[in-house]
Amino acid sequence: MPSITAAAPIFGTPRFPARLWIYTNFHCNLACDYCVVASSPRARRRELSGGRFRGLVDEAVREGFAEIYLTGGEPFIHPDIFSLVEYAADRLPTVVLTNAMLFTGRRRAELARLAGRPGLVLQSSIDGACAATHDRWRGTGSWERAMAGLRYAAELGLPLRVALTQTPDNAGEIDELRGVLAELGVAAADFAVRPLVARGFAANAPGGPAAAGAIAVCDAVMAPELTITADGAHWHPVGGDVESSPDFLVARGGDVTLADAKRLIVERYLVLHPADGARPAAFRCAV
Ligand code: SF4
Repeated sequence: MPSITAAAPIFGTPRFPARLWIYTNFHCNLACDYCVVASSPRARRRELSGGRFRGLVDEAVREGFAEIYLTGGEPFIHPDIFSLVEYAADRLPTVVLTNAMLFTGRRRAELARLAGRPGLVLQSSIDGACAATHDRWRGTGSWERAMAGLRYAAELGLPLRVALTQTPDNAGEIDELRGVLAELGVAAADFAVRPLVARGFAANAPGGPAAAGAIAVCDAVMAPELTITADGAHWHPVGGDVESSPDFLVARGGDVTLADAKRLIVERYLVLHPADGARPAAFRCAV
């Protein structure tokens, strides 16, 4: 068995960043063709309770995590999302990944409450400079609604980041999208282009994942980013759905501690990368 003591220094380095991902829930108002965790309105919800969430944040502080990313599914569907976001952002820099389509009604007013909170950032996905390109993968009307949501968040002064997922359709629109986002106040450094990953729905993309340009990933080629869901602890957020990515599961159970999950990740890392200087590539879901 590899020595944990010897390996402990990898946590907090590029080999194992001190970045904690939490899936607040898995259901989503969309069902994008390439969703890596196969989310949809019908997905098994896997909502985290407020108690479990707050316990994770408290432990993240104790365990030396430097930042928290909340994702799903669509986090803003979670009934307690605003209090969860406040709890996390009051303790650690927090990024919430959202499709930005649900900032209406009660959520619109509650989002305004979050504005001005230090350390809170929203990240969204826009996959083209026009509706047709984005909507082809994400559904009719989704570009307009996402842009309206981003515009509202920008008006509130909430810091925004945007990632574009590469598809066979959008390579020629990246510069134009940069310009569109700049008008919303999204700086060039807060915009990222990330590859399509052959997980979840993308693993079954029409014509096969390779035809869609999706890359294959596994734990051996990705630096771990500890990810917690209602099902357990996972190697990386792109493998957060235990049903479509069972190989990314590190520990099963709704009460896994971060200390245990960190130890298990270090153990697996040492098996995958014995002391030969090998270092897996970072794959950033976030900007
Ligand atoms: S990619 Fe994001 S917005 Fe689309 S179904 Fe998955 S979680 Fe929802």
